[in-house]
Amino acid sequence: MDSKTTSLEEFHWLMDMIQTIDVGLVVIDRKYNVSVWNSFMQNHSGKPPHDVIGRNLFKLFSDIPEDWFRRKAESVFLLNNRAFTTWEQRPYLIKFKNYRPITGTAEFMYQNMTLIPLVSTDGAVNHVGVIIYDVTDMAVSKDQLENANSQLETLSRTDRLTELNNRGFWEECLISEFRRSKRTKQPSTLVMFDIDHFKKVNDSYGHQAGDEVIRNTAAILKQCARETDIAGRYGGEEFGVILIDTSASNALLFAERLRKTIEAQTVTHEGRDIAYTVSLGVAELTDDIKNHKQWIECSDQALYEAKHGGRNQAATYSAAKKAPQQAG
Ligand code: GH3
Ligand code: MG
Ligand code: MG
Repeated sequence: MDSKTTSLEEFHWLMDMIQTIDVGLVVIDRKYNVSVWNSFMQNHSGKPPHDVIGRNLFKLFSDIPEDWFRRKAESVFLLNNRAFTTWEQRPYLIKFKNYRPITGTAEFMYQNMTLIPLVSTDGAVNHVGVIIYDVTDMAVSKDQLENANSQLETLSRTDRLTELNNRGFWEECLISEFRRSKRTKQPSTLVMFDIDHFKKVNDSYGHQAGDEVIRNTAAILKQCARETDIAGRYGGEEFGVILIDTSASNALLFAERLRKTIEAQTVTHEGRDIAYTVSLGVAELTDDIKNHKQWIECSDQALYEAKHGGRNQAATYSAAKKAPQQAG
């Protein structure tokens, strides 16, 4: 068998392949008029070659940003260089509806584009080839991966039971706030609180009821806190709130409001009303506090005083007096 082919045959085969290839092929001339438009372009744009050939690209597709495209193409015409754009720079050159069933989450086709200089017999670049790749699958999976990652990140810093910040993340926030407040000299106050006689809640009503009380406390905390306050679940029935730009005296007002709100309501579990209270420790960041752990200790010491003073009260840490002031 003769394996040789004529150059005419080769030319026809190449033309067939150009028509069927799953890539957009367009040729434009110096005036940005279209001179080649393959089947991919016809199928996706709905415009057959005879509607397009000889017409200006920007008039045909008015949403192509002309300045941007010209800047790219002119360097190809003048410098005989290639140019590229990816979907991350611009999602598409020409907006094509995305019809793919699997990647149906994208409403349009994401495209990468390559511009290549087409040299004429006289050596001049009078035409530029535009190659358009459908990269929807890649773009969608990257998008999905980013979404999944951000969901994972949220999950990894959220406490399951209360949906408050968990201890790890909350402590990271406390470290940042410690540094910020030291740098800016703006006041910042930490409130730690703990449910009173919580063991009794568990013992009398069961662990499920205990969980419900913890969840309810978190919900009230979210209601009482401002947007900028950073609330977290520190331990079992222990919580922490960072009050940014807040002095101890203002934080004490917040602590009292929270305490009274909790005292005034009950949690109903399996038909039984559970009343409970909390004790709170308030500590403003001062010069003698050297790290975030000491800050927690100061707040915890005030909390201890509140418990010692009879529970259902808030106490403020005072380094000078060593015996914290109490309110309640
Ligand atoms: P105090 O007034 O001194 O704080 O008394 P208390 O009974 O609250 O004392 P303590 O802090 O020692 O008790 C905490 C109890 O909380 C012990 C533990 O079994 C329970 N606990 C810790 N985490 C959870 C939880 O997620 N759910 C439930 N239901 N109970 C928990
Ligand atoms: Mg307790
Ligand atoms: Mg406790």
